[in-house]
Amino acid sequence: MSVRLPTALLCALAFSARADSWTPQEGFRKVATRLQELRGLKLDDRLQLEVIPRTEWHKRVAAQPTKTNEPYAVLWRTLGIVPAGQDADEAYDEVRRRYRGYYHLSDDRLVYFTDTPAELREPQLAHALMHAVQARHSRLFNAPPAIDGYFDDVNWARAAAKEGEAVLHELSWPTGSLDGMRDKIEALPERLDIEGCEPYAVRWTYHPYVAGARYLLAHAKGGLRDACDALYLNPPVSTEQVLHPERNDPPLAVIVPDLSDRLGAGWKLAARTVLGEWTIADWVWALRPDTAPKPLSVEQIGGGLPDDLRWGGDQAQVYQDGERFLVVVWTVWDDEASAVRFRKLLGSTKSARAGPRVAVLCGPAQVHRGLLTETLRDVRTTAFRSVEQLEEILAGD
Ligand SMILES: [Zn+2]
Repeated sequence: MSVRLPTALLCALAFSARADSWTPQEGFRKVATRLQELRGLKLDDRLQLEVIPRTEWHKRVAAQPTKTNEPYAVLWRTLGIVPAGQDADEAYDEVRRRYRGYYHLSDDRLVYFTDTPAELREPQLAHALMHAVQARHSRLFNAPPAIDGYFDDVNWARAAAKEGEAVLHELSWPTGSLDGMRDKIEALPERLDIEGCEPYAVRWTYHPYVAGARYLLAHAKGGLRDACDALYLNPPVSTEQVLHPERNDPPLAVIVPDLSDRLGAGWKLAARTVLGEWTIADWVWALRPDTAPKPLSVEQIGGGLPDDLRWGGDQAQVYQDGERFLVVVWTVWDDEASAVRFRKLLGSTKSARAGPRVAVLCGPAQVHRGLLTETLRDVRTTAFRSVEQLEEILAGD
C-alpha cells in the first residue's frame, strides 16, 4: 500500500497536468493535421483561430441582431411556421447565443468558445475546420445568386451538404469510422445546447445538421471520403433530395408571373421564395399539429414530409400594399394522389387562422400546366438537375 500510493498520486498528477495543458491552439493544429489526412485535402496558413469567452460572443450577437424583413416574417406567420405573437428574430438569436463553434467565411476565421465541454473540444474543432476545407475545395459555399428567391431551396440543400459532412466528421472524430453512426445522428439533439429554445428556431439552425448527416450517411456505403468527394462534384439541388436520398427526381422550377398589376394600384410583389419540402413540412405540421413530431426531437429538427406527400416544386409570393398583405403559394406534386392529399389538408383547416389570405394552387406535376393556366396564363414549370441548368432556364425568360 505504501508503495502503491505515491504511484497512484503521480499518475493522477500526470493526468491532470496533461488535461490542463490542452490549449485550443495545440488542439487546433492537431485536429487540422488529422482532418487533412482523413479528407485527403490541404488547408493552409491563412486560417485563423480566435478563442473567446461566451460573454464576448453574447456581445457580438447583441451588436448584430437577426433582422428578418417584414414580408418574410408575414409569410412565416401566415403559414403558421412561426406561432402568432412570437418574435422569431429574438428566438433565433437565443439559439445563436448558444452556438458550439463558428466559422467566419468572410475572413477565414474559426471561433472557439472557452466553455466548450472537454469531450467536445476536438470534435467541435473538426466540425468548424471541415467548413474551412469546404471553403477551399468545394462549391458548397458558393451560394447561387439569390435571383428573386428561386435558389432558396437549393441553398438550403447546400447548407445540408456542408453541415452533413461537418457533422459526420465531428461524430466520427478522430477515426472517421462510420460504425454506429446512425445512432449517433439520432442522438444529435442531446449534443446541442437547445433546451428551452423555440423549436422552430432550433429547426432553422440545425435542420441541415440532421438532414445533411442522414443524407450523406445514406451515400457513404463506399466510405466517408468517397461520399464527400462525390458530394462536392454533385451537390443536391433540393431539400427533397436531402430528405429522401433514395429519390432522384429533379425539382421543378415553378415560374409564375408577378400578379401586382392584376391586384390593383398600390400592390407590389414584396418577396418571392421556394419553400422546398422541409418548409412545406413545417406548414403541414402547423395545419395538422397532431401529425407534428415532438418539439426538439430529432424528427422535429431534421424531418420532412411523409412518403405519401411527394413534393415536386413550389413558389411562394408575398404581395404588399402598405399594411395589407396577400400570400400566394404555388405547389406542384410528383403525383396526383399527393396533390389531392395536400389540397384536402388545406381545405380541412381553411378557417383556422386569422391574418393575411393565402391563395394556394396545387396540382400534380403531370397536369399542373393545364390546371394552373386555367387560373392564370404564363405559368410554366421545368425540371432541373443542377444549379447551372436552373440559371439557364431563368436567363431564358
Ligand atoms: Zn457547421
